[in-house]
Amino acid sequence: MTEQASRTLPSLARIVVVGGGVGGTSVAYHLALSGERDVVLVDRSELTSGSTFHSAGLVGQLRSDPTLTAMNRYSVELYSSLQQGDTPPGWVQCGSIRLASTQERWEEIQRQAGWAASSGLEMSLISAAEAQELFPLMSTDGVVGACFLPTDGQVDPSSLTYSLAAGARAMGVQILTGTRVLGIDTEGEGLRRRVVRVRTDQGDIECEKVVDCGGMFAAEIARMVDVRVPIVPMSHQYVVTEAMFEHRETPLPSLRDPDNLVYYRQEVDGLVMGGYERNSEPFTASASSYDAVPADFNGRLLVPDHDRFVEISENAAIRVPAIADAGIRTFINGPEAFTPDNEFCLGPTDVAGFYVAAGFCAHGIAGAGGIGKVVAEWVLEGAPPMDLWHMDVRRFGQSYRSPSYTLARTVENYETYYDIRYPAHERSAGRPLRVSPAYAWHAAHGASFGEKSGWERVNVYESNATADDESWRPRGWAGRNWSPGVVAEHRAAREAAALFDESSFAKIEVRGPDAARLMEWVCDNVVARGTGSVTYTQMLNARGGVECDVTVTQTASDAFVVVTGTAFANHDASWLRTQARETDADVTITDVTGAWACFGLWGPNARAILERLTPQDLGNDAFPFMSMRETTVGDVPVRLVRVTFVGELGWELYCPTEYGAGLWRTLWAAGEEHGLVAGGYRAIDSLRLEKGYRVWGAELDPAHTPYESGLGFCVKLEKDFLGRDALAAQKESGVAQRLACLVLDDAAQVALGNEPVRLDGAVLGRVTSGGIGFHVGSSIAFVYLPVAVQDGARVEVGIFGEWVGATVTKDPLYDPRSERVRA
Ligand SMILES: Cc1cc2nc3c(=O)[nH]c(=O)nc-3n(C[C@H](O)[C@H](O)[C@H](O)COP(=O)(O)OP(=O)(O)OC[C@H]3O[C@@H](n4cnc5c(N)ncnc54)[C@H](O)[C@@H]3O)c2cc1C
Repeated sequence: MTEQASRTLPSLARIVVVGGGVGGTSVAYHLALSGERDVVLVDRSELTSGSTFHSAGLVGQLRSDPTLTAMNRYSVELYSSLQQGDTPPGWVQCGSIRLASTQERWEEIQRQAGWAASSGLEMSLISAAEAQELFPLMSTDGVVGACFLPTDGQVDPSSLTYSLAAGARAMGVQILTGTRVLGIDTEGEGLRRRVVRVRTDQGDIECEKVVDCGGMFAAEIARMVDVRVPIVPMSHQYVVTEAMFEHRETPLPSLRDPDNLVYYRQEVDGLVMGGYERNSEPFTASASSYDAVPADFNGRLLVPDHDRFVEISENAAIRVPAIADAGIRTFINGPEAFTPDNEFCLGPTDVAGFYVAAGFCAHGIAGAGGIGKVVAEWVLEGAPPMDLWHMDVRRFGQSYRSPSYTLARTVENYETYYDIRYPAHERSAGRPLRVSPAYAWHAAHGASFGEKSGWERVNVYESNATADDESWRPRGWAGRNWSPGVVAEHRAAREAAALFDESSFAKIEVRGPDAARLMEWVCDNVVARGTGSVTYTQMLNARGGVECDVTVTQTASDAFVVVTGTAFANHDASWLRTQARETDADVTITDVTGAWACFGLWGPNARAILERLTPQDLGNDAFPFMSMRETTVGDVPVRLVRVTFVGELGWELYCPTEYGAGLWRTLWAAGEEHGLVAGGYRAIDSLRLEKGYRVWGAELDPAHTPYESGLGFCVKLEKDFLGRDALAAQKESGVAQRLACLVLDDAAQVALGNEPVRLDGAVLGRVTSGGIGFHVGSSIAFVYLPVAVQDGARVEVGIFGEWVGATVTKDPLYDPRSERVRA
């Protein structure tokens, strides 16, 4: 740690980066690379003195999230190009092996081979013997198969940080070590609150933007502006062995054996060996405190915890027997910033100008290059270059303000790090937390609950399962955690009526003198059409990419309710607040999710069930599709909204939460004679798939426009809105790709997402989402394909190593003229 700090603290800088680990230096490097030179990086101690200096330095690229894979691929490109420069980071492209020591893991590896193919990453499936040829120290006992990724590697984390710092400095960034941030000042109230100054122990810096790259200290830094970054420092351990083999000309590939919870990489003539213990140990975090890392914890490690490492050591010797006799040169126990879902915390926050790039969950070295690139663009352009929703710090809702909840979720994630994630897998920590007023009814009627954003939601009622429907069970992984109850619930919605509890839907109220102006500016569709109007619309970024996909109800001349997916409350509210700030709109934006229960009643019998409960005329003239009426249902005041997410006649019924249990019971009782069935989210998903309804985060994302996604009908180019110019230009030039619907040849083969899709042997896209449409009787998948691929074209979907034939089919497959919803 010989970094020479410039001791002159500037009083002014456009951007201040806090933290001189691999994250902060990469962000600073990429800000400068993008042309922004007015950047100061401060660290309270020396560069690399947080988690970075004690990292194991493995760089793996392939992840389940294609965006993260692309970011890691960029890291590899960057590290190998820096290796050619004056301050090489110690990059070694040694390749990596991942072993399957169980049949299930072998299936997972085949699935990952599909992800690699759809990401354009070279990866081969190899036998146990071939793995041993590449890594001679390993035993092949119990190895079912393996995969080899030749472009993975390892890097020296400190050298990488100094290399990035040198590059940043050469481009004009000032780096000041020994400079501790004590406070961050903001000005303005509510959504106009913005960063203006960073206060350090060396003086103040007036600034426009701050990027919190504080690693495990990021929560403490964010608290200075009352922003919650849910990060828990977790102890992570590895050992470095004495020499175990003769000097090699070619480096050993790194080796991961997830079934045994261990990883290895070469270190001189010995090995680095570490793993993820099942009995984890958070550092300083507790149920009542989340940012108590000591003020002098820099350049320091924790005391080795040999007891906790016993399982890892024993497993390590199963796979690499020689390690049992190898001496231990160093035992590292270092804290690292983990998050509740094992993904990074990146991007803007509700305080204007305050950004985060932290919580790297023991893959920050692999990710740093890509993280720096995307965060720099986000900070400079206001939008990231790709879909970063899974890493967006705004994905965490209010519940993560709680230290105990954050801790429970993070610990669960750490301890199951190497577990296979089967589809429909549900987590258990911190549950139940948020429940609908009808929760007790669901539990008493055989509900199987899933969890999203802390909400307990019905996946399916096991009580609806009938033996006949077993014939629909998908093959392989998709058939695990699957219930035949989904088929019965799906059928009921199509043939009679089904009642769904959607109380978790996020509801955001936009109110104020400028509400209509703001909503028209952010939405591609016309939404200010008068009280009672309901509009399906997207909110776009300047490139025309879909940032939010929502239904907007106008509830008064100056008020709108935006309804969006359960997980998107924070994200969409934050997008609205940012646009309100930028357009100086006089509005208040409030998340009212918990104030309203919401039930969806859909199916051909929906009108018959409802009409005896309400004074409201439900006929098409009095109450057309896409409109809202305030009325009563039974004894309950209800906002009745005629929309559907399943493609049937019906309504969403919103009522104040305290009436929810009563309203549910009333609907249930009235529905009995009409064949009403209670349904869960699994049925909603299969219903929406065959009706061709898109989901944000799967089909829709900031990288694709409504024209590409098949939502051109929402775009009203005749008005002015954010993203309009980009869409007008795209309409003129035509789209290069479009969202296509595939029908698989075999209805029992189900795509779970991210599977490669190929035409004539060439991979052209990856599945966004898939599932069975039980009414149309097909396995359906969506994928972006070049427009040249026409309906009727034959393609193949790579499912667990098998190429399944599929036909590109005009969508929607169900009720293409939407006659049912307007019935
Ligand atoms: C044992 C171990 C093994 C690992 N192995 C791997 C691996 O093999 N591959 C991989 O990809 N990743 C690995 N990681 C993870 C990786 O090391 C981290 O993700 C990464 O180093 C985090 O970098 P960072 O910049 O976010 O944080 P840090 O390196 O912790 O940097 C944060 C900096 O912020 C500074 N700071 C904090 N508060 C203030 C303040 N108030 N004012 C000014 N400065 C402040 C700190 O001094 C510190 O230097 C491992 C981690 C551990 C612990």
